[in-house]
Amino acid sequence: MKITQIDLYQVDLPYAGGTYQLSGGRTYESFDASIVRITCDDGTQGWGESTPFGSTYIAAHALGTRAGIAELAPALLGRDPRQVDRINDLMDATLVGHNHAKTPLDVACWDVFGKSVGLPVAELLGGSTGTPMPMISSIYAGDPEDMRQRVAEHRARGYLGHSIKIGALDSEGGPALDAERIAASLADKKPGEFFLVDANGGMLPETALRMLRMLPPGLDFVIEAPCSTWRETMSLRQRCDYPIIMDELAQQEDDLAWLAAQDVADGIGLKISKAGGLTKGRRQRDICRANGLTVSVQDTVGSTIAFAAIAHLGATVPERLLRCVLNCEDMVTLQTATFDVVRDGGRILPPELPGLGIDVNEDVLGDPVAIWAA
Ligand SMILES: [Mg+2]
Repeated sequence: MKITQIDLYQVDLPYAGGTYQLSGGRTYESFDASIVRITCDDGTQGWGESTPFGSTYIAAHALGTRAGIAELAPALLGRDPRQVDRINDLMDATLVGHNHAKTPLDVACWDVFGKSVGLPVAELLGGSTGTPMPMISSIYAGDPEDMRQRVAEHRARGYLGHSIKIGALDSEGGPALDAERIAASLADKKPGEFFLVDANGGMLPETALRMLRMLPPGLDFVIEAPCSTWRETMSLRQRCDYPIIMDELAQQEDDLAWLAAQDVADGIGLKISKAGGLTKGRRQRDICRANGLTVSVQDTVGSTIAFAAIAHLGATVPERLLRCVLNCEDMVTLQTATFDVVRDGGRILPPELPGLGIDVNEDVLGDPVAIWAA
């Protein structure tokens, strides 16, 4: 089996909740998605997506994603997409870094691989645990009572996990406002629910410690990405008794090896486009497993195609380690594909269909913005 054509599409994904607000005054209203279709010599096609969270979240942006794909795609023509590790070695030899550009190509190869053997991607990644996975909401930073309301809305829709965004600048209310946001968001916490309090690197050890001391006692949550550097995070780690989850700082496999060796954190946010795709996401899953780190399988954002990749990788993480999966499809208003997840209350499993198990709606994609053919 050989790759004979690669098509690249671009679509805008409007945020479903209006304006998304992150620490540091960052705001987002729409996300620029790059979607790839790989076609093989026997006619088999596979799909993948990479949608950065704007240009101010991690070192990834949509124009860079497409420039990276243009660099990589010619090298993949004529290669066997089922050799996923070899495909990734070739991509790494062609372009250093730029995981976000490698992701849709890698994911499309897995989709082809699954279709070629008639198995869901989760089975090829090691096998689905069969345990329905809790989904996590994404509650942007705002007024504390409004955040409490948005948590309640997601709770009513079956969400068991909630990612609470904090990180107010002093001019916005600082640590006192963040403490109010946490207390309000957790005020109606139900048994079985869990909360990740995510500063997206927006605090310093000083502001984080002040905030924690303003909280009422006994609140059950973990702190995610409190600081923007490793040094700041390690300083806070030594003086903080809440579990710490890494996200933006933990991108490469060697980041995970190092953070485990240094005991910097208790878990990670495993975002597929941050990791570089499912091949490298699988390696990150296994590093976490070997080190007893919890995993929240997510992506920076994305549409249905990205959600499908999340669901398949998430389904292979043992229940004890899997904190949650992100339903990014629920965050945007454009549906790029049909993906009939198996639902069990608020929990989900990927469908038992070959590949990613998606049916892409090519009408919403428009014409390709680039085509590479052998
Ligand atoms: Mg995060």
